[in-house]
Amino acid sequence: MDISYILNELGEERENYFNAVSPPIIQTSNFTFKTVSDFRQALAEEYDALLYSRGQNPTLTILRQKLAALDGAEDALVFSSGIAAVSVPILALLKQGDHVVSVENPYSWTIKLFNNFLPKFGIHTTFVDGSDVENIKNAITPQTKLIYLESPNTFSYELQDLAAIAKIAREKGILTMIDNSYCGPLYQQPIRLGIDLVAQSATKYIGGHSDVVAGVLTGSKAVIKRIFDHEFMNIGPTLSPHSAWLLIRGLRTLPLRMQRSFETAKVVTAWLAKHPAVDKVIWPFNPTFKQSELAHRQMQGCGGMFSFTLKESSVQKIEAFCDRLRHILMAVSWGGHESLIIPSIAGISLADYSPDNPRHQLIRMYVGLEDADYLISDLEQALG
Ligand SMILES: *Cc1c(COP(=O)(O)O)cnc(C)c1O
Repeated sequence: MDISYILNELGEERENYFNAVSPPIIQTSNFTFKTVSDFRQALAEEYDALLYSRGQNPTLTILRQKLAALDGAEDALVFSSGIAAVSVPILALLKQGDHVVSVENPYSWTIKLFNNFLPKFGIHTTFVDGSDVENIKNAITPQTKLIYLESPNTFSYELQDLAAIAKIAREKGILTMIDNSYCGPLYQQPIRLGIDLVAQSATKYIGGHSDVVAGVLTGSKAVIKRIFDHEFMNIGPTLSPHSAWLLIRGLRTLPLRMQRSFETAKVVTAWLAKHPAVDKVIWPFNPTFKQSELAHRQMQGCGGMFSFTLKESSVQKIEAFCDRLRHILMAVSWGGHESLIIPSIAGISLADYSPDNPRHQLIRMYVGLEDADYLISDLEQALG
């Protein structure tokens, strides 16, 4: 399906709402019925009915159709946060005694899900370096029900070979799931490579304006319906119609914003790599990136987020550099209009800081929609 068609037309039945170009926000909790017979049918099969907005709502339906089509998936569910789109399907599809093989260092709350939350239900996780497929293969046990991926990682950018891992998992009947937040649907389509479930934080590029928290899950209709009918309706991580409308609006300009962020990141990473105070720059589309071949094979473009290290990377030097920035903001998250920085040391207690740990020295930067020159001049004055 044409991306322009998906973003501008798919799911929009304008004749049903006065031919308005922009869809209405159907801000209602419930829907009425004219007959008991219709009411009974909706109660029996909520997945196919407008009954109650914890389940289905027309504004969310438009969004879900577009998100499913972008991923090449049969169906999509939207959630009130990205982490709900990760946690709910895992809670839905695993049971006591099951085992998970996960890439090491996934998103921070995903680590907490695997380490603190799932063990309460007797589900245990083995973390492996997923850049070598053999490590994943070797960690599989007869109890393994899920292989969990995040490619690229959003701090250190390790990739996994999605097609190769999907093939191994299919042979063994193991489910695969990926957090695809970094690339989003335009730059990587894991379902086309054989991955079963794709989660992403729509708070990032899809929302795109740092004003909404949301998540997306795509997959086969059978699995999405299974999750909807049980854990989704029980846990209730529903997105509001207003937030769904903001995401539909975000989608209209997603290709433009991603391209801008990608192009500016190219310029800024090239400039940083040459700066005498900078040690190394890690970005999947840099020519020196260690998995560059794989990145170009499975990604159609690159997110505008990268990490770098300073040659003098004491806590004091890293803090002084970040504190001196005037325009690049210090904040969590990414994917909005504004460029952001977060040094790894902000998330580590100083007692735990180890100068020998390369992850501790990383400074993560997200490139927003500003001009490259504007960002470079801010970096230049802060690097000193
Ligand atoms: C932000 C993020 C999440 C969580 O999404 P929320 O919308 O904040 O709940 C999950 N994975 C990655 C890689 C993220 O960057």
